[in-house]
Formats: sequence, C-alpha cells, structure tokens
Amino acid sequence: MSDVQHESVIIIGAGPAGYTAAVYAARAMRNPLVLAGYQPGGQLTITTEVENWPGEKEIQGPDLMVKMREHAEAMGARVEEEQVAKVDLQFRPFQMETDSGKKFTADVVIISTGAQAKWLGLPTEEKFKGFGVSACATCDGFFYREKEVIVIGGGNTAVEEALYLTNFASKVTLVHRRDSLRCEKILENRFMKHPKTEVIWDSVLDEVVGTDMPLGVTGAKLKNVKTGEVTDIDAHGVFVAIGHAPSTELFQGQVTMRDSGYIDVKPGTTATNIPGVFAAGDVTDEHYRQAVTAAGMGCMAALEAERYLAELEDQ
Ligand code: NAP
Repeated sequence: MSDVQHESVIIIGAGPAGYTAAVYAARAMRNPLVLAGYQPGGQLTITTEVENWPGEKEIQGPDLMVKMREHAEAMGARVEEEQVAKVDLQFRPFQMETDSGKKFTADVVIISTGAQAKWLGLPTEEKFKGFGVSACATCDGFFYREKEVIVIGGGNTAVEEALYLTNFASKVTLVHRRDSLRCEKILENRFMKHPKTEVIWDSVLDEVVGTDMPLGVTGAKLKNVKTGEVTDIDAHGVFVAIGHAPSTELFQGQVTMRDSGYIDVKPGTTATNIPGVFAAGDVTDEHYRQAVTAAGMGCMAALEAERYLAELEDQ
C-alpha cells in the first residue's frame, strides 16, 4: 500500500464549488488536495464575459477561474491535474485512482465534478461533431468568420452563445422549440436588438445537412413542432445549447442519485447518503446552476466536512 497517498480531504473537480471548498478546507488547516481533472476551472473556462459574479462587473470566465485557483493555492490547497478514473466509497478511508495510475485514500471526499453540455442525440449531429457541429461557441466560434450559423436552444447558454457568435458570423439564427425564451431579460433584449440575429420559433433541429468529402456542414432541416412542416436553412455551423447533464458517471452505484442523475443530498446540506462524502455545485444542483451558488455549496461542503472530521477525531 506504500504507493497509496493518504489525504484528509480530497476534492474531485475544480470549478467554483471545488475551489471554494478548497479555500475553506485550507483555512481550516486540512491541507486539501484538489484533483482537478482534464478541464480545471470547469464550465466557466469555456464561457466569455461573466457579469454576475459579485464584485466583478465583468470578468472573462477563464480569468475568474485562474483567480479562484490562485486563491485556493494561496490558502494552502494543492491542485493536481489528475483525472479520477475510479472511486470506491464503500470502505474507509475512501479510495480513488486516477487515469495515470495514481492511488489516493481520503477521510473526506467532496464531489464537485459539475455538469456538461447535453446533445440532442441525432445521428447527423454525431456525424458532424467537430466538423460543423459544436456545443461550445467560445471554443469554435472563430472558425465561422463571415459565415451563417444556427444555435439550438432558448436558455441563457443558447442566447449567450448566439451573442458571442455575432463577433464572427455574418448571421446567427436561434432555433427554439417554443415561442418564448427562458434566458435572462437583459440577454434577450441584447439578442433581439442585435442586427445579425434572427429567431425561428416553435422549431427543432431535424437533421444536420452537409458534405462527406470533406466532412462539413452546409445547412439543416428544421421541423416546426406545431405544423410538422420541415424547412431547409443554410448554415456552416450548428451550435447545440440545450442545457447540461451532471458529470456523475464515476459515482454510479456509489452514492444515491436522483432520477435526473444529479447526486442526492440531504435538504439544506451537501451531505450524500455516505457520511464523509459531500456533493457541491452543478453535480447536485439542477435548479440554480450558477457559479455563485456552486461556490456557496462548496463553502457548505467544506464546513460540513470540517464538522465531520472533528467528530471523527473526538471518537
Ligand atoms: P436551460 O436553462 O436548461 O435551457 C435549455 C434550453 O434548451 C431551453 O430553452 C430548452 O427549451 C432547450 N431544450 C432542452 N432540450 C431540448 C431539446 N431536446 N430540443 C430542443 N431544445 C431543447 O440550460 P442552459 O441555458 O444551459 O442553462 C443552464 C443553467 O445555467 C441555467 O440555470 C442558467 O440560468 C445557467 N446559466 C446562467 C448564465 C448566466 O447567468 N449568464 C449563463 C449560462 C447558464 P425549453 O425552454 O422549451 O425548456
């Protein structure tokens, strides 16, 4: 067992929840280790302007996450860019192994693995993924200079992605399955006023259309959900922005999850069904899903972890 590293607190995932938990656990002198995975910083690293983080009228998402990491490290937390591949939470100390083969045990685990973009599940969406179909405007928008693109969805993500794409594309068409958006009013107003944007209401993506050689998108078939009519639209890019699903695969069969796949916690806490295992942020929150609420839950998880460790020490 000598190649196994034991830690008091391991935090899996490095978004706002994970880094905030790290700040609090470090200040409680628990010397936490953050296993940050392949995408340290989480979803905010693939967004642009963040305008609702208190104290910052406007900050780029990736810059905010760099600041959070620096803050956690300055408090004494350690961050390793290791991807956890296996966990066993049925025995104590809890066991983890990363895909590079590193093995860890911990008295407390804080799960803050966040959520990821959802896909529609169409065969043509799959076929053109990375070749004209994307779920990340910040990653891929640059490739659509002076081209027409469509964005699927009607929430904050879809409208933010659409607005971002106006920086490059000649025209951005939002395709939404209902006749009203669910995004914040400020975003809706900005979008509706923009000269490059258009909305197609009551419609869904039926098929992505493109060429095989070279593989690329030339348009899409859209279906009106009220009339059933299918129409063709020209586009070089299709951005899918229909929400998020929690990143919980690793914990299947280990902690109790709700039917939606989000980790279940005791109401008003971050405690999972396993004492000593806590869940914070988008991995458990299907309602608010904000950076600031995730950070709040990260704080709660660290405080609850501290109480749990103190009780263990008293035994
Ligand atoms: P969301 O709010 O769940 O919106 C998803 C959108 O996609 C909805 O408009 C939904 O339609 C549509 N949709 C879902 N499944 C679909 C399908 N199969 N086919 C067609 N359309 C489909 O997700 P989100 O926009 O990714 O936002 C997630 C959370 O993060 C929200 O709480 C949001 O407020 C937050 N967020 C906040 C900010 C910000 O504060 N600036 C930025 C990004 C995200 P319906 O409307 O008909 O359900």
